Amino acid sequence: MPLEGNKNMVRMLIHEPENAVFLDAKSIGTTMPSQGDAQQRVALQHLETERLLGVDFIPVRPVAGAPPEAPETPEMASSCALEDLKARVESDFPFCSSLSGASRPVFGEGPRDARLVFVGEAPGAQEDETGRPFVGAAGQKLDQIIGAMGLDRESVFITNILKARPPENRTPTVDEIECCAPYLREQLRIIRPEVIITLGGPATKFLLATSEGITRLRGRWGAWEDDALRIPVMPTFHPAYLLRNYTNDTRKQMWSDVQKVVELLGLPKK
Ligand code: URA
Repeated sequence: MPLEGNKNMVRMLIHEPENAVFLDAKSIGTTMPSQGDAQQRVALQHLETERLLGVDFIPVRPVAGAPPEAPETPEMASSCALEDLKARVESDFPFCSSLSGASRPVFGEGPRDARLVFVGEAPGAQEDETGRPFVGAAGQKLDQIIGAMGLDRESVFITNILKARPPENRTPTVDEIECCAPYLREQLRIIRPEVIITLGGPATKFLLATSEGITRLRGRWGAWEDDALRIPVMPTFHPAYLLRNYTNDTRKQMWSDVQKVVELLGLPKK
């Protein structure tokens, strides 16, 4: 960095050292100013001495008005937070020894400002293969449900309690839920959706902190509470359960559950 370009910085170093930047001492002295105030010359001489002593950089704080390092808007901040969390999930994988048979983490997907978040149980075989949530048969049913609500998959956030496939797709153990739960909580804190739909018993029990069964809980509003956050939760059947029990009754029940969410979000009714 030529010295001419550093005049303001040098002045800041003298008068406002707290506002200065890393100054490249190696570049000092290449273009000495012909004029300049006495303070600036003293500072330059001081820097030149540092350079001769082998100092390459003088660590001080950033220049006021320099491009900010922090995100500028809350949207950018939450986008960064979600990306950071995803990176953490990737580096923490497989989270606990019983999930070490999984091939990869499945973080979840969707916009960081989604109004609606779906929470399922755990990735299955296809999710484990692709690293994406709800892409198998249950996922296709979920896509249809989302479509019937008047939304598309890209507008909602889809995730699971477990961020990796449990062996043989068995129901998650308490330990597995415990080791993956912090990631889900953090996702919800970052996204702050207007509504959460829990799919099936494990997701519902976990978010509503209850031991009641899904048959009793489905269709009734609950809430996920986390400090000052209180997000409405609509429990419904897991789409895999719907596929296994594809009767008029279960279809009607699930439809009536998601209609309550359509209403809360103020979406046009179909
Ligand atoms: N079942 C789930 O609970 N989650 C998935 O991602 C897929 C199937």
